[in-house]
Amino acid sequence: MDVSATEGSERRTQASSRAAVGATEDSGRRIVGGHVVTMDGAGGGAGTVLADGEVAWDAVGTLTYVGPARGPAGAGDVDATGCVVLPGLVNAHTHSGMSMLRGYSDDCDLQTWLGHVRDFEVGMSARDVASGLRLALLEMVTTGTTAFADMYHWDADLLAIVADAGLRVVAAPAVFDYDDVGYPGAAGPDGTGVLAATEDLAREFAGDDHVRLAFGPHAPYTCSPELYADVARRAARLGIGVHTHLSETRHEVDVCRERFGVTPIAHVERLGLFEVPVHVAHAVHATPEDVAILAARGASVSHNPVSNLKLGAGVAPLVALRDAGVPLALGTDSAASNNTLDLFEEIKTAPLLQRGVAASPDVVLGSEALAWATTGGARALGFDRAGALEVGKWADVVVVRADGPAATPLYDPVSFLAFAARGSDVRDVVVGGRTLVRDGRALTLDEDAILDAVARAGYRRAHDAS
Ligand SMILES: [Zn+2]
Repeated sequence: MDVSATEGSERRTQASSRAAVGATEDSGRRIVGGHVVTMDGAGGGAGTVLADGEVAWDAVGTLTYVGPARGPAGAGDVDATGCVVLPGLVNAHTHSGMSMLRGYSDDCDLQTWLGHVRDFEVGMSARDVASGLRLALLEMVTTGTTAFADMYHWDADLLAIVADAGLRVVAAPAVFDYDDVGYPGAAGPDGTGVLAATEDLAREFAGDDHVRLAFGPHAPYTCSPELYADVARRAARLGIGVHTHLSETRHEVDVCRERFGVTPIAHVERLGLFEVPVHVAHAVHATPEDVAILAARGASVSHNPVSNLKLGAGVAPLVALRDAGVPLALGTDSAASNNTLDLFEEIKTAPLLQRGVAASPDVVLGSEALAWATTGGARALGFDRAGALEVGKWADVVVVRADGPAATPLYDPVSFLAFAARGSDVRDVVVGGRTLVRDGRALTLDEDAILDAVARAGYRRAHDAS
């Protein structure tokens, strides 16, 4: 069932018109030269790799040409000679507002960490949440991420910040339980209010290419069975998905078995959650039975290896999930448990971690990890026109410098992207035909103001909370 289209807010209209202006202001609608990695291949491959390629789009930001260069770069074109061109990366799991907590609690397990984080978060103001979001957007877009799934405090003003910046988001307003106020300092409502607000926002942004909503029940150890069953019914009625943490730690699984007699994944299945599209964060401790449930139900999984390693949560059964056909994507989780939002770290870590565990060098390929970070993420988030460079898809394009020491020699651009590239190598970023990053500098976000605001607000909050 589709959400009936409703009139957007004035805020949203303004944001959309700004995006449109941004698109028409760009004189160039072509990226010419360089190695173009299309990621358009089925079966998890990197698609076609063009040695001297070209990507072009029309006035509304739809790709009109992907192929060999049709001549040298002209005035107004982006010259990608010496670069690798690829689709925008998709960060399939993060909590943007938590960028304010980067480095705040580094060396403890999830449950202890959650306590530290909650102490900080309850005092965060609405301005703090917005500052954390802007910082996350700045870090993501300048490191090549163009779309992301985000579970945190969300309202129309925060969503307008994303639309103005030009990225794409699936926002899942976090729910802990009906009477829990997740973000009191930011005037966040209780869980009942968040569920109602999620429905309102989903209607307001229905059909929007940049902002989509999902329900965001936090986890089975914070949300009651009644709430999960309620979310499943609401999501089915509204035609939107659900994003939730499942089986992140051994402790979570043990507690769930004690309380409910089953694993977290079996628990929410029993509650009817998988009747609607579900995007799962983690699944680190998924059992073979859990993997079968996820595969049978078509639930996607965001694998977040750096966060899992940093919190000592364990190693996800990625190979079993992949082999069962579970749709996979990669996420950073928050900057508080990572501590960066540079998706290139996940692209490299995911295969290396599995290779180490399996003592096998080809159990997960670099090209697979790159596919999870592009096509896989786009599929998991429901952004069907993102994730690949193909005519008819959105012009979400990243240009990565490939002329430095770590890219030389460049036998294989896919190898470079998977194992040697860093977010700091990203030179240009285009989303929907609008240039968001040029020569490494964000055009739609004020870097100096964002860094200054977060540094000052973060310092104040850290000292108030201690
Ligand atoms: Zn998370």
